[in-house]
Amino acid sequence: MTNATSIPSATPLLAHETAPVREAFNGRMYIGGTWTESADGLRFERRSPAHGHVVSTFPEATSADVEAAINAADAAFRRGPWPKLKGVERARVLLAVAEGIKARAEEMALLESLETGKPLSQARGEVTGCVDLWQYAASLARTTSGEAYDTLGEDMLGIVLRQPIGVVGLITPWNFPIWILSQKLPFALAAGCTCVVKPSELTSSTTVILMEILEQAGVPAGVVNVVTGKGPTVGQPLAEHPAIDMLSFTGSTRVGSLLGGLASKHLKKVALELGGKNPQIVFPDCDWDAMVDAVVFGVYFNAGECCNSGSRVLVHESIAERFTQAVVERARQVPVGDPLHPDCKIGAIVSENQLNEILGNIDKGVAAGARVRLGGKRYDAKGLFLEPTIIGDVKPEMGIARDEIFGPVLAIIAFADTQDAIDIANETAYGLSAAVWSSNIDTCLTVARGVDAGTVWVNTFLDGYPELPFGGFKASGVGRELGKQAVEDYTETKTVQLHIGARRNWWLPRPAA
Ligand code: NAD
Repeated sequence: MTNATSIPSATPLLAHETAPVREAFNGRMYIGGTWTESADGLRFERRSPAHGHVVSTFPEATSADVEAAINAADAAFRRGPWPKLKGVERARVLLAVAEGIKARAEEMALLESLETGKPLSQARGEVTGCVDLWQYAASLARTTSGEAYDTLGEDMLGIVLRQPIGVVGLITPWNFPIWILSQKLPFALAAGCTCVVKPSELTSSTTVILMEILEQAGVPAGVVNVVTGKGPTVGQPLAEHPAIDMLSFTGSTRVGSLLGGLASKHLKKVALELGGKNPQIVFPDCDWDAMVDAVVFGVYFNAGECCNSGSRVLVHESIAERFTQAVVERARQVPVGDPLHPDCKIGAIVSENQLNEILGNIDKGVAAGARVRLGGKRYDAKGLFLEPTIIGDVKPEMGIARDEIFGPVLAIIAFADTQDAIDIANETAYGLSAAVWSSNIDTCLTVARGVDAGTVWVNTFLDGYPELPFGGFKASGVGRELGKQAVEDYTETKTVQLHIGARRNWWLPRPAA
């Protein structure tokens, strides 16, 4: 139901490379230091959304398996060596994991590309990028510590110990499986925690391989446990089980709010990294070519299946049409198709469901009065491919301006002045990230301070560093990952008050000697 006649055609699909013939990856679970099948022997499979063949199969965990994994993590925390190891010893293990990732990067990247549908080149970048996260966590394992207060008077020394919080449940999504796990796991391990990991059922391979690397690097039995399967059976117990002390979840706002509610009800600490509807805000005085490239990159990187996707552009009304034409022209040059093709920049959409949801959102936008300026359709080809899409004439109150679409779809919205841009930017439930494009420092700072977002990029987009905290305002999440607090988030403080010398402040008179 898109207004097809006036829409320029999207880039043609890249020719498929020869379909990769490889044996399906045989995933296993890891519980208490043992590689295992599920208690009832059932397995599920994952097919490539680009090619259709089975890429991998995994045990379908039962509640008994999840219980066993939680108990193993609990025992490893209460009685095992890991929480008591010196920081330097934990750091050595994390550094060995970083080396293990480097050694198996190509194998992991191929599986990640085949399971997610993302270009192999981008999967390679994701896997090798994780090395830095593990190395950074290793540095924090040695430098995160408590505090001493020598200011409380001559008879008192206050010590604030920083201790691992306990058993952490980690639930991850399908869009950056190994990267998102690496934003959590090394920091929890650096703190001395033990963990139960539940990867997305669509993309579990790299988590299983990472577990093999952890085992080789010397992580003791029970410290990390991996259970594979569906959310309600395998993920939900991690929010409810009494032996879990903290839940760290990345995924949709819908599931995050459900699990956050359950975990809070059971008085667990909760960290949530959720969805986004991130605005890039474009002023006429920006570096035009750099901005156009970053807009196209921002929305089509990872096929828009990215919590940080720059899925809406707020553009000054005086340049809205020139901007739209420039972005349409640039978007038509983005190579789409087989993720294994060396030129590919947009691969397949992760699943039929996801593809249909994206198309449904485009249709709703058109029904509300927005106009498709590029794409808007599924490619007529084998595999789940969607044309890079640009929607113009979007009004801030339309669903397409507010809802996370999680696909290669850009919504363009015009604004009148800086305050109007900030108001529109803040009109969604989300607050993950934003960008501002202008050569005027006052404009940049006013926008950066005014938008509800955990990260604001100024004249750039999607850069990231482990040193910088990442997380969202409002419905985009609770808490921050990365940054120098990343390990502290997996700790509890304990206050120890040491009295020095004879006690002076008797409550009742001191008994006679
Ligand atoms: P999802 O919420 O459907 O699933 C995430 C994980 O939760 C998966 O492992 C899934 O199996 C599990 N799950 C699903 N239902 C569950 C339930 N009832 N109980 C327990 N666990 C359950 O999300 P997704 O589709 O895998 O990922 C896409 C979403 O993730 C998007 O909304 C995206 O914005 C968000 N995301 C956020 C960030 C961030 O850092 N803010 C990063 C990446 C993705």
